[in-house]
Amino acid sequence: MLPRIAIGLGVLVWIVGMEFSSGALAVAAEKELSTVQYRLSFRQAETHRVDIEVSVPSDGKAEIEFMMPVWTPGSYLVREYARQVENVAAVNGKTNASLVLKKKDKNHWLVETAGADEVSVRYTLYCHEMSVRTNWVERDFAFLTGAATFLTRSDMLHHPHVVRIDALPNWPKVATSLAVTDARDSWTRRAANYDELVDSPILMGAIDIQTFEVGGAKHHLATLGGESFWDTAAAAKDVAKIVEVEQAFWKETPYKEYWFLNLATETGGGLEHDNSCVLMTGRWAQRQRTKYADWLGLVSHEFFHAWNVRRLRPKVLKQYDYNNEQYFHELWVAEGITSYYDELFVARSGLSKPKEYLDKLGKNIAAVQNAPGRLTQSLADSSFDAWIKFYRPDENANNSRISYYLKGALIGALLDVEIRSATDGAKSLDDVMRQLWQSHRDTGYTNEDFSKIVTEITGTSYDAWLKESLETTREMDFSKMLDWYGLEWKSRESDKDAPADKPVFGNVFVGLDLQAVQGKAMVDKVTRDSPASLAGFNAGDEFISFDGYRIAAETWTERLNSYRPNDVCKCLVARRGKIVELSLKLAAEPETSWKIVRVAKPSEAQEKRWRSWLNLPDPKPEAEKPTESAKAGGEAAK
Ligand SMILES: [Zn+2]
Repeated sequence: MLPRIAIGLGVLVWIVGMEFSSGALAVAAEKELSTVQYRLSFRQAETHRVDIEVSVPSDGKAEIEFMMPVWTPGSYLVREYARQVENVAAVNGKTNASLVLKKKDKNHWLVETAGADEVSVRYTLYCHEMSVRTNWVERDFAFLTGAATFLTRSDMLHHPHVVRIDALPNWPKVATSLAVTDARDSWTRRAANYDELVDSPILMGAIDIQTFEVGGAKHHLATLGGESFWDTAAAAKDVAKIVEVEQAFWKETPYKEYWFLNLATETGGGLEHDNSCVLMTGRWAQRQRTKYADWLGLVSHEFFHAWNVRRLRPKVLKQYDYNNEQYFHELWVAEGITSYYDELFVARSGLSKPKEYLDKLGKNIAAVQNAPGRLTQSLADSSFDAWIKFYRPDENANNSRISYYLKGALIGALLDVEIRSATDGAKSLDDVMRQLWQSHRDTGYTNEDFSKIVTEITGTSYDAWLKESLETTREMDFSKMLDWYGLEWKSRESDKDAPADKPVFGNVFVGLDLQAVQGKAMVDKVTRDSPASLAGFNAGDEFISFDGYRIAAETWTERLNSYRPNDVCKCLVARRGKIVELSLKLAAEPETSWKIVRVAKPSEAQEKRWRSWLNLPDPKPEAEKPTESAKAGGEAAK
C-alpha cells in the first residue's frame, strides 16, 4: 500500500477545514504539497452526464499536461476511458479567461498557462455503462469509478486530490472510502494521492447503509437499488461473518474502515479496492438461494482482495502505469487463489453447507475440464495475456484460452492438498498466504517468491510441481485431493440431481452451441476436436436441418437426445447464404460428471482433514448424522 502523504493547506477557497493531528501538521509544514481540486456537477444527470472542473496550480510553468488512465487496476483491459470525455476546455482559474488547450494523444491534454497561477480544465463525462469498472449517472443515482472519471495534472499524482460534489437534491447519501475534509460536509472528500482517488469509487443516491464493527474496524454495507427486496440488516450479518473469518485468516486487519458498495442494479461483477469493493447484483438476488449464495461468494472474493492483490501485489503492479498494460504471470495467485478461497470462506463461516461447497468446486472443475483451451494455454500465459484474451472472448475463446480464475483456483486447491499432505496436516496454503503477506506486502512478489515460500513452509521443494502447473498444459490430477479429504466423483447413475427425463440411449455429445437469432438456429460456438468440429460446422453457420428434419435452437438438445451415440446424420447448414451438407457422427458423452461427493465411509483421518479444511465443528459423539443435511431445508442442501 502506498504511504499516506501529508497534505497541503488552503490552496482553494472552498475547503472549509481539514483534520490534522499535530504530528501531521508538522510534516505538512515541512513539505507542503499543493492540491488538485475537483468540482462535480450533476445538472445533466438525466442525460447521463457529469460536468467536472479540475483545478491545479501552474507552479510557474508555461505549459502543463493533464492525463487520464486508460485502464483501472483490478480489471486488466485497456478501456480507453477518455473516449467518454467531451467539451474539454481550459481557463485561468482566477480570472476565468480562456486558455489554449491541445490534445496531445488519446489520454493526454496540454494547456498553455499564459502566466496563470491556477489552471482549471472543464469537461463533460458521459456515464452510461453499468459495470464495476465504468461510470453510471442517471436521475436517481450515480456511480463513479476513479480511473474513468478524473483527469489530473500528470506530474501531481503524488499530491492530495480533493473532490467536491454538487449532488442532486434527491440524493441523500454518498458512500465512498474517501475521507471527509470536514465532519459537517460529507460531499467534500479527499484522497491522499491520485492512486487513492482512482482506488475509491463513489456511490451517490438513496443508499441503505448498514454499519457493523468486526475486529476493531468499521464496515459498511451500502446497498442501492435493493428496495424492499433486500433485507440489508440480515445481509450485513452474513457479511460480518465473512469479514470475521477472513480477518482471522490473515491475523491482521490492515484498514480502519471498509465499504461494501452493493449495487442491486440487475447486473453482475465485483471490483476490489484498498478500503472498499464494488458488488453488482440483482434486485431479487437475496430471495433466491443460489443467487444469494453467489453474492456471498462475491463478497468473500472482493474482501479477500483487500489483502491479496490490493496490498499484497505482484511485483510488477507495485507502481501502477495508468498509460499502458502491465505484464505479469501472477494472476493465478491474485485471482485464482482468491477464487479458491472465496467459496471456502463462505463454507468456513457456516453460510453455505458442505454439499453446496462441493457442488461449486465440481462446477469449477467441469468448467476447466470441458474447455479445450486448457490444452492450449498455460496458466502463466493466461495471466500474461489477460489484456488481449481474458477480457476479449470470442467464439474461439473456449478453444484457445483457460481462465486464470477457474484453473488458478483449482491449482490452489491441489497445492493446498500437497502442502497438507507434505506436513501431515500441520500446514496448509493458509500458512503460505500469510507468509507471503508478511514477507512481500511491501516489495511485491513473483511466482519464484511464492515458490520459495511453499518450500519454506513444507520443507520440500515444490518448484518443479509449480513450474509444471503454471507453465505447461499438463492435465490436473485430482485423485490425491479426493483421497485426502475422503471424496469421490459422483457417477451419472447415482446423480439424483440429474433431470428425470434422461435420454433413452444415453447422453449424446456433439460440441455445438446454438443461438436463436430471428427464428434461425445459428451456430454460436464449435468445440475444438468435437464431433461438430470434425463434421465441419463453423461458428456463424445457420443450422437448417438434422437427419432430414428442420431444427430450432430451443429444441436442439431434446432432438439430439432422441438419437444414439455413433449415429451418423446428414445436416444442412447455410454458410453466407450457400447450402452446405455435412455428415455428423454423434458421440457418447464422457461418463465423468465432475460432481464431487463424500465417500460413504471416510476413514478417521479423512474425516479429520475434511473438518479441518471446511472448519467444521467436531461431530457430536452420538447419532446426530442426519442433522446437517436434513435441517438445511430445501434442495440446495440435500
Ligand atoms: Zn478478483
